[in-house]
Amino acid sequence: MPNNFCLDIGGSFIKLGIGTGPSLKEAASTPTPISHYGSFLQSIVDILRSNGFGSDDRLGISITGAIDRTRGHILSSQLPFLGQVQLAADLAKALQQAIGWSHENEVFIENDADCFALAEAHFGAGRAYENVFAIILGTGVGGAQVYRKRLIRGFGDTSGEWGHGPYVQKQDPSAPGYVPQLVCPCGQKGCINTIGGARGLEIIHGASGDENMDSRQIIDGWMAGDAACAKTVQSYVAVVSDALALTLNITGAQIVPVGGGLSNAQPLLSALNQAVQTKVLLPRPEPLLIKGATGENGGLWGMHAQLLNPSQSH
Ligand SMILES: [Zn+2]
Repeated sequence: MPNNFCLDIGGSFIKLGIGTGPSLKEAASTPTPISHYGSFLQSIVDILRSNGFGSDDRLGISITGAIDRTRGHILSSQLPFLGQVQLAADLAKALQQAIGWSHENEVFIENDADCFALAEAHFGAGRAYENVFAIILGTGVGGAQVYRKRLIRGFGDTSGEWGHGPYVQKQDPSAPGYVPQLVCPCGQKGCINTIGGARGLEIIHGASGDENMDSRQIIDGWMAGDAACAKTVQSYVAVVSDALALTLNITGAQIVPVGGGLSNAQPLLSALNQAVQTKVLLPRPEPLLIKGATGENGGLWGMHAQLLNPSQSH
């Protein structure tokens, strides 16, 4: 029986998990070559070959960035060279040459937020629910919806992108709890993506004067009763919960597994949960926002879920 070889490719490491049936084991990791495409491809071939990748095995990749399925490009700020090449096709060819991988196989590639949502819906905090909207509060913000175990795909793969759109309105910088309206990498101004992640919390705090605290210190300060930190968290929760409540009214999701660095801040999740519950049309009886169960291996577990049902992959 073929195994599911799942790669999670980030700007620092390439992680490999090998999935069989309902289980998955984290097998290896290697530093990501970030400057040269040839070395990058070779590293993937090497990590697969040295971990027993066989000619019948399936292969999938979870990666940060937007996937342009028409042209086969991946728009990743961490690995810019992927914007000019066709990773799936190039890798399939390299594996054919290296280990005789069947040319009928293809390399499946999914965005990391999509993989996290699949992971949580199949194996994690959302496994008991049919309508799951997973969010990532990491450096920035991501999201994806899985309905009855299948990823909802939208125009140009843009579904679930609750972090984009001109949400933050222009405010008076001298007002208490001021949230700056920042330009997002997507080109719009005031996206939740610019203020909803850990950097966003720091930017909001910095805008009111203290630029030297990281997100963890701000959350700790808030918990310890510091007034400035409390104001920052209050502003953050107010804006992020607005966008999330609207998203939940539209999707009707029953549960929101949360990933990314800020998901480790339980008090922040509780505050967000409380605010969202007051803004959705129909408050849910149980916590809506819950820390994801697949954690740092969400990319691997999500790709494993996708490879277990390859007919759902497109
Ligand atoms: Zn944006």
